[in-house]
Amino acid sequence: MHKRIQILTQIVFIFLFVGLIIMNQIQIWMGVFAVTLLLSVFFSRFYCGWICPINTVMKPFAWVKRKLKIKGPLKVPKILKRPVVRYLSLIGIASILAYSLINKQPIPVLPTLVLIGALIAILFNETWFHRSLCPYGALLKLSAKKPKKAVGIDEDNCTNCGICARVCPSDAVDKLESSHRIDVSECLVCHECIRNCPTNVIHYQVR
Ligand code: SF4
Ligand code: SF4
Repeated sequence: MHKRIQILTQIVFIFLFVGLIIMNQIQIWMGVFAVTLLLSVFFSRFYCGWICPINTVMKPFAWVKRKLKIKGPLKVPKILKRPVVRYLSLIGIASILAYSLINKQPIPVLPTLVLIGALIAILFNETWFHRSLCPYGALLKLSAKKPKKAVGIDEDNCTNCGICARVCPSDAVDKLESSHRIDVSECLVCHECIRNCPTNVIHYQVR
């Protein structure tokens, strides 16, 4: 049920996104993002898991690769996984947007990012995009550092099986000595871990 609502929400937002591109009104999407950025202070990065068109487009590719047990095919160089890469990406995209605004020259930044996301998901892996390349993720990581509501593990009852860490597309689950813990600032609120935890000890809840 939950998954169906999530997929439906993603479809609605991808239609909205495409509609705005067709109507030449893509700047309205920045308003959608700004609202969700503010809300992420309270409700975590639900934009990523439920609304983001880049993630919605990447998902089917990642799903097919998971089913076929394909990793890669290309390997991401270690240097490009460094935390600084995501902030360089943010600065780069912000500069392009500023140039576009100042010169009143429309540049299709967001649609291009959707295409890049799809290519990354096909050729590399979605985790790299979430953790190192997404400029929106870089901002959301800052706003969702200590959200009021977040995905969390009841560590006392975790059996430490590691399934949550394996299914997490954002590498947001850390292994502890006898349990696992979620880094909420990296969590996309995608609910994959909640759906897959065999002991049902992961919940999206008030902290
Ligand atoms: S899937 Fe559930 S039981 Fe397994 S490590 Fe994660 S939280 Fe613990
Ligand atoms: S799998 Fe769980 S921890 Fe990972 S991004 Fe999704 S909701 Fe967050």
